Amino acid sequence: MQDSYRHKGMRRQLVKVVQGKGIKDERVLAAIGKIPRHFFFENALVEHAYEDKAFPIGAGQTISQPYTVAFQTELLQLKPGDKVFEIGTGSGYQSIVLLELGAEVFTIEYQKELYERTSHFLPQMGYKPNFYYGDGSQGMPRFAPYDKIIVTAGAPTVPDALIDQLKVGGILVIPVGDAKTQQMLRITKTAENKVRTETFTNFKFVPLLGADGWRK
Ligand code: SAM
Repeated sequence: MQDSYRHKGMRRQLVKVVQGKGIKDERVLAAIGKIPRHFFFENALVEHAYEDKAFPIGAGQTISQPYTVAFQTELLQLKPGDKVFEIGTGSGYQSIVLLELGAEVFTIEYQKELYERTSHFLPQMGYKPNFYYGDGSQGMPRFAPYDKIIVTAGAPTVPDALIDQLKVGGILVIPVGDAKTQQMLRITKTAENKVRTETFTNFKFVPLLGADGWRK
């Protein structure tokens, strides 16, 4: 697939839309302006790639809305070299945004079809996060602790395991709520047994599945 002047123009418009909704981090805006989102769309939907909307990617899952990706990424306050664990690889778009901001990315996906597709496709685009297949709702202890953890599916509660796997000073960004709507939380681990929780606006995600998700 080509990345034409037309696509680049549509991407600049998308950056303006996301900026207009309140995203200020220039690095996040630059990543959205750089990544060819239309590469993630099947032919029938490619014309919609630069709308600020979530779209189906197969296996009943979605590529998140660009504003949502930008909002979660901004909340992470990434520093180059941060070790980031992402739960819900999906299309891989969010993983690429994290890589563009200089993070070392560990990403896990529950749907085998998506894991296989994305772990094959992203390296073809020149991006190489560490891909894993399985249930990330209880984290991935073997590579912990992480500087940052981002959950890109809606969780019923905050899994304790994710707090345990954060470094002191680390940040977990997670949408928590019911099936219809979830509130975005930023949880900072301020000491070994202490967290600070900040709450933000509501979003709508596909459900976090697995042991600490919706399917027990
Ligand atoms: N970050 C993705 C992107 O940029 O395309 C967002 C994808 S979608 C909103 C959320 C993803 O979380 C889905 O692909 C879904 O299969 C995955 N997921 C749900 N529960 C999971 C779990 N317990 N472990 C890992 N992935 C999970």
